[in-house]
Amino acid sequence: MIGDDTIAAISSCAGPAARMIVRMSGPDAPAIAAALAPGADIVRFDRSCACRATIAFAGLEVPAWLYFFAAPHSYTGQHVVEFHIPGNVLLARMLLGELLGRGARQAEAGEFTARAYFSGRMNLDQAEGVAAVIAARGDEELAAARQLLAGQLAAAVRPVMDDLTDTLALVEAGIDFAEEDIAFLSPSALCERIAAARAMLDDLVRNSARFEQISHQPHFVLAGRPNAGKSTLLNVLSGRRRAVVSPVAGTTRDVIWAEALLDRGVVRISDAAGLLDVLPPEEDRSPAAQIARQMHNNAVRAVAEADFVLLVHDAADRAPPPALPRRHDLLVRSKADLLAPRERDAVGADQSGVIAVSALTGWNIDALRRRMSEMAFGPVARHSARLALNARHLAHIAEAQTALARAMDSAGRGEGHELVALSLREALDALGAIVGRVTPDDLLQRIFATFCIGK
Ligand code: GDP
Repeated sequence: MIGDDTIAAISSCAGPAARMIVRMSGPDAPAIAAALAPGADIVRFDRSCACRATIAFAGLEVPAWLYFFAAPHSYTGQHVVEFHIPGNVLLARMLLGELLGRGARQAEAGEFTARAYFSGRMNLDQAEGVAAVIAARGDEELAAARQLLAGQLAAAVRPVMDDLTDTLALVEAGIDFAEEDIAFLSPSALCERIAAARAMLDDLVRNSARFEQISHQPHFVLAGRPNAGKSTLLNVLSGRRRAVVSPVAGTTRDVIWAEALLDRGVVRISDAAGLLDVLPPEEDRSPAAQIARQMHNNAVRAVAEADFVLLVHDAADRAPPPALPRRHDLLVRSKADLLAPRERDAVGADQSGVIAVSALTGWNIDALRRRMSEMAFGPVARHSARLALNARHLAHIAEAQTALARAMDSAGRGEGHELVALSLREALDALGAIVGRVTPDDLLQRIFATFCIGK
């Protein structure tokens, strides 16, 4: 199943970076690399090495590091060459074009990891771990993904499979020697063995988390009066200009959101602009009143749905903060730069539930980020030791449980050993599918299609 052609792709992410990686895997990779870097002593075909070289393509001469991983000691199990070139997307695309022109084929999403799987370099659950590590948005997700990658799920499933394989062997021996009336396994011992396997699978599910649960992205909402500085704060926290900032109150018309990378993971922050203390009267059908009511309702919904509410209140505003539809989790006194230093220190003093910041000067923004990170991800790194299972793993475990229940039924009713053996084999197949021992092609395709290209 492992492809015998040579594939290539840009392996680094699309954003700006100091270096970019173009990766190539397959039997022709060494020859193609050697043609691009004739002076380099990279390709000895027999052992992995790294070297600096000038690679010539598209009329350019580009300084690069070349890494050669000789089969079978590479990620994919085939010859792999990586070009590490200066961080320029155009350059990487031109180099990729050159490799394709010399006979490599553009790799599909996940194709490098698929090759690793087919050459026996990793189990299917570990391949899913690779995808999960790439996609992880928080430290807990990353810890769970790394457990998959380390083969922890396979390690948990394997003892159950070993026990079931032994049981199946005894049941099959009973079938072979049925005439001789030799009992290899008494009906009660058989039921006990099946029950033990079911209990192990129950424990596995009970002691694990669901990937969907831990991949929940914490959601903050910024609420407060118009002009309190919410849009400016959103822009500063997300490092992007997402919201329009304007001294004209009520400029932000919709619920705008952005992602922010805090020290422990990525959170979503929305700006619930348009919350009003007093709504226009219902009988006011003017467009302005209708829009104001609509904005207010959208903001109320955003506040209700968020995990954490930050009430942003201008530090120079002597009026009490507005009432929100729900209690806030943190009061952010904004525009602290407008205060006299003594006054600022008073509001900036470390009080629980209140923090003073200036989005304009950046004062105390790092402290706010830390506070938000703690709220979103807990005070200390959780790095849960629990295994996380995805929907595919749970479906296979459920299939195995159903087959085991059937085997138990047949055994309990004293039905023929053939039926018990059939159900045990089904259970083993279902568990085998978790690590990829027996997995239909379409399922493999679906799993690897969730990867990005170049992985
Ligand atoms: P929003 O209506 O709550 O989204 O408020 P904006 O972010 O649009 O800000 C309203 C006004 O306050 C704008 O003129 C901003 O430039 C100004 N502003 C926002 N943050 C600060 C700050 O930290 N210090 C000062 N001095 N002005 C700020």
